Amino acid sequence: MIIHDNDDKIDILSLSKDELFAEITAMGEKRFRAGQIYDWLHKKNVSDFSQMTNLSAQLKDKLREKFCLKSLFIVKRLESKVDNTVKYLYRLSDGNHIESVVMEYNYGNTICVSTQVGCKMGCRFCASTIAGFKRSLLPSEILQQIYIAQKDSGRKISGVVLMGIGEPLDNYDNVVQFLKLLSDPDGFGMSLRHVSLSTCGIVPKIYELAELELGLTLSISLHAPDNESRSAIMPVNDKYSVEELMKACRHYFKKTGRRISFEYALINGHNDTREDAAKLAALLGDFVCHVNIIPVNKIKERNYTSDRKAAQRFAAILGEMGINATVRRTLGADIEAACGQLRREYEGMAD
Ligand code: SAH
Repeated sequence: MIIHDNDDKIDILSLSKDELFAEITAMGEKRFRAGQIYDWLHKKNVSDFSQMTNLSAQLKDKLREKFCLKSLFIVKRLESKVDNTVKYLYRLSDGNHIESVVMEYNYGNTICVSTQVGCKMGCRFCASTIAGFKRSLLPSEILQQIYIAQKDSGRKISGVVLMGIGEPLDNYDNVVQFLKLLSDPDGFGMSLRHVSLSTCGIVPKIYELAELELGLTLSISLHAPDNESRSAIMPVNDKYSVEELMKACRHYFKKTGRRISFEYALINGHNDTREDAAKLAALLGDFVCHVNIIPVNKIKERNYTSDRKAAQRFAAILGEMGINATVRRTLGADIEAACGQLRREYEGMAD
């Protein structure tokens, strides 16, 4: 994807391998040079052209003239004392801020990345959306969250979840380009089997994504079992109803064979009764899926509350009704590892 910055330089890290090869050979360089540069960028994850030590000084100058390689600046790093969760607050080259969280599971380290600065979706319980939307992230800016966290933490990142700030399917083209770069065996080489994309339910984009058969796990932020209660907390439901969303999910499963994961943030007094569980079980029916119950994370702008016990009870009721449900593990509780909270605090937007 060819993206020019304000100085008309091409964002080198957002280029596909073919695009990079075309640009470099058009400069009169041999193909193997393009291969070396791609390797520096996506395998060795350098943050500056000067670190490409097997290139001549002259070529590095030519690269600087034509391309930009914008790193992210680590403004804050918070390390949890209760588990090995590390949260990063990054500053982008235009001064905006985003967050990423590295989480340790017994099978490896997974990073939660942001896809936008802020969010347009307006979910009532979500800290990322309160100050509104600034802009979408470039493929390079999504990749850099991973490359830099891996370098800084010294921990190999083996999984990615697109569950940070932003709605990935509202930044569809850049997210797809990011996924292609991330999974390129000549680059970072992550299997998309280890990637989850979470969406609030932008139905037409779910159909588009199904066509790509990328092998990633689709995670749907459902959070309510019917239109009335979903619309009350998620404005996106006014555009795409629960029925349309479920139809798209069934299509996605049929096309890709990948089990879908449904997220359900349990909110006291809103979506937590036995009747809600029964409606949810009826909605999901025989659908091959998994339900993740998350006790809603309290944000200071809202009065939503929940607790682990209630979440466990709700999951058990779903289990009795034949639905495969678990309660999401809480990580980094002491560093407010839920997305959107740190950025808001840092930018002083909370009032
Ligand atoms: N926009 C995407 C991904 C970002 S949010 C989406 O909507 O899926 C990642 C997940 O965290 C979503 O399931 C979202 O609904 C959930 N979430 C946001 N704020 C939350 C909160 N306060 N408590 C619990 N879950 C929350």
